[in-house]
Amino acid sequence: MKNASSQNPVSPYCTGCGACIADSDQTLRMDWDVHGFLVPHKISDRPVPELAIKACPFAAAAVGGATDEDKLAEDLFPDAPTSDPEIGRFEQTYIGYSPSHRETSSSGGLATFVFDEVLTQGIATHLFVVLTDGAGYKYRLVEGNADLVTTSKTRYFPVTLQEFFELVPTLDGRIAVSGVACFVKAVRMRQRSFPEFDRKIAFVVGIICGGLKSKYFTDYLADSAGAGARYRHPEYRVKDATASASNYAFSAEGEDGTVHTMKMARVGDMWGTGMFKAKACDFCTDVLTELADISLGDAWLPEYRTDGLGNSVIVTRSRLADDIIRRGIEQGNLHVASCAPSQITSSQRASFLHRRDALKFRIGQARIQGQPVPEVRSRVLKRISFSYALVQIQRELTRSASFTSWRRSRSANGFDRTMRPYRILLKIVTRLNRMLR
Ligand SMILES: Cc1cc2nc3c(=O)[nH]c(=O)nc-3n(C[C@H](O)[C@H](O)[C@H](O)COP(=O)(O)OP(=O)(O)OC[C@H]3O[C@@H](n4cnc5c(N)ncnc54)[C@H](O)[C@@H]3O)c2cc1C
Repeated sequence: MKNASSQNPVSPYCTGCGACIADSDQTLRMDWDVHGFLVPHKISDRPVPELAIKACPFAAAAVGGATDEDKLAEDLFPDAPTSDPEIGRFEQTYIGYSPSHRETSSSGGLATFVFDEVLTQGIATHLFVVLTDGAGYKYRLVEGNADLVTTSKTRYFPVTLQEFFELVPTLDGRIAVSGVACFVKAVRMRQRSFPEFDRKIAFVVGIICGGLKSKYFTDYLADSAGAGARYRHPEYRVKDATASASNYAFSAEGEDGTVHTMKMARVGDMWGTGMFKAKACDFCTDVLTELADISLGDAWLPEYRTDGLGNSVIVTRSRLADDIIRRGIEQGNLHVASCAPSQITSSQRASFLHRRDALKFRIGQARIQGQPVPEVRSRVLKRISFSYALVQIQRELTRSASFTSWRRSRSANGFDRTMRPYRILLKIVTRLNRMLR
């Protein structure tokens, strides 16, 4: 098992949140690594301050920084009426969409709706969200009067909150931010340690995440779609109202301005195989962004799959978030209804299976190889069958090979050729595991 970020001066498990940079006393700088991730690089002979190491959401227990999600959630949402071992603490669970936003959004448009309300209701004066940046994407500060359509859509591209952590202390006003689970954890850890962050961070939208992808993922998709290496404006979730919700397309603009579109089905399963995924994601137990005010994901459920425009699963965790959703329903601005909590967990079943059930096995593998492991909630650890362990081994080999394969070939055809045996073997062991299960 090759370690994607073995040279990382903060942690071998890194998703590039950038929390460490703010406390690094100029010993660290965010930059691309050889696997296409944004990670901290050491730029000074001085040692990295302990504070920076402790700011990492993947810090090892011995470092003593990261507190587990259960403890953080207890402090954040002490009055939440329900606590569920998979969902975490929450107010209510819903499914649906925002009629005004979903056409220009990734799934039900709930993230854009919520940010709109956060600004309109004066909960925050600024947003920190992900916007286009040439061939890629970047977190940016958005003022209250911005056109929020430009902030919509999911970006499977490495981004960092480094500027957020630097900006908040000097910000005039209050801010709302979107983030995947580990980024949200980094934000909450900072709020706990620094009162000015707690005062200024007004609202956190959690983007349910099945794993962060390297920049190579976008390079591969762009080349597969025919946009070549000098593509611009990648779009990951081009919807088709006449097809099923999961039958979306990728598009990117080639050098000559032509937009190339490709159904994602053409490249096969890019999520279950773990290709281009950050290693740290295999050590994250937070499937449903348990520390956000509101958690939003795709309603990957049979009853919603036929709706090509998409629906969102929604978990409200703070009273403020629940008020936003309830008011949206009452005022007719949301086509959203309460749902059973089990529908939320069912929509992310594959993620729970991989991320939680198989974690104990992956921790064992890491220890055998003498690698440190981040602090994880021991309550989620389980034993898995021999056949599922084989799936885990092959998935890791596939994930690991995807980086070397892309670096060598830099072409979709070459990549597909090298990865074929890995994918076939993964399919075989996955089938075997299903049969035995
Ligand atoms: C890396 C990644 C993996 C995901 N995996 C899953 C999954 O396994 N299961 C699932 O149900 N859903 C997953 N999603 C979430 C899903 O794709 C939608 O983003 C989510 O349902 C919100 O849709 P929406 O229509 O409400 O958002 P929209 O209204 O389209 O708004 C999207 C919001 O997310 C912000 N955003 C976009 N990209 C990022 C990013 N990289 N980091 C932080 N904020 C961002 C935008 O700025 C915008 O505010 C993933 C998203 C990402 C970024």
